[in-house]
Amino acid sequence: MQECIVYGHVVQPASGSQHHCRFCIDDDFSGPSARERQIDKLQKQAARIESFLKQNGEAIGKGLDNANLPPVIDGAKENLERIGKGKDYFKGKVLTADSSYHSVTNIAKCSEEKIDAYIPDNKFRNRDKRFASRLGYRPRSKFSFADFKYDGDKDEYICPNGKHLKPLVKSGRHKGKLLRVYRCSENDCQRCDLRAKCLRYKDAKCRHLTYYADAKGKNISQAMVKKIQTQRGHKIYPQRIAIVEPVFANIRVHKRLDKFSLRGKIKVNIQWLLYCMVHNIEKIAKYGFA
Ligand code: SF4
Repeated sequence: MQECIVYGHVVQPASGSQHHCRFCIDDDFSGPSARERQIDKLQKQAARIESFLKQNGEAIGKGLDNANLPPVIDGAKENLERIGKGKDYFKGKVLTADSSYHSVTNIAKCSEEKIDAYIPDNKFRNRDKRFASRLGYRPRSKFSFADFKYDGDKDEYICPNGKHLKPLVKSGRHKGKLLRVYRCSENDCQRCDLRAKCLRYKDAKCRHLTYYADAKGKNISQAMVKKIQTQRGHKIYPQRIAIVEPVFANIRVHKRLDKFSLRGKIKVNIQWLLYCMVHNIEKIAKYGFA
């Protein structure tokens, strides 16, 4: 045993290297540093674990989920291809994700892959009367865009009172984007019993609906809001809770992963993937392959 010439750590003797201490980095040492070697080793371990998993799981390390679906879908596709599934495996498959995933990026990725996705926005419960008796339910005070039905044949919207909102000829451009404006007739709105729920101001004459016609992102987001409000959306979306949440409960309560005991994304990812692997092995052992 020798001592490190820089900091005095105990050093393993190595031929051709004056300084072979794994605790410190010597400027004269030409090979990869101890940290680089450690990272390399961890990355190889992570790759081995991931290829074993045949699914996609990753500690992405972002607080927001608004761009997390594309890497998850791509990763899962890669893994499925490795076990002989076709590239269009996800076509027509149902996907549910919670409202933190409701973003143009995530929804666009699902539509690109032709996935039947159900990703509500964060106000969907306030629109759903089934939650009326729940603690913290705050009904929306005014009708929103989603409450108006579009009649494609006539290019009109139909309001909750059954009246028609016709397109305004002066729909124009705002900040370079094409604006579409629809307006209900003053006569209808003045006599309407629902005006308190529909009009923003007491003395407003009539209701307008305005949106950017060429803002694709906003439209796909609105289309998703409407999809969640359909009968099929009401039936499918609640299944997410029973599918996903027990996995977290099992890992946190039974496997006691309340918090990661390691630090750094690579190590946290390895720890997370190991827990996923144990969870999956347990499922296969109990219920067999799907
Ligand atoms: S205020 Fe006008 S747009 Fe709103 S519900 Fe009544 S009639 Fe329809």
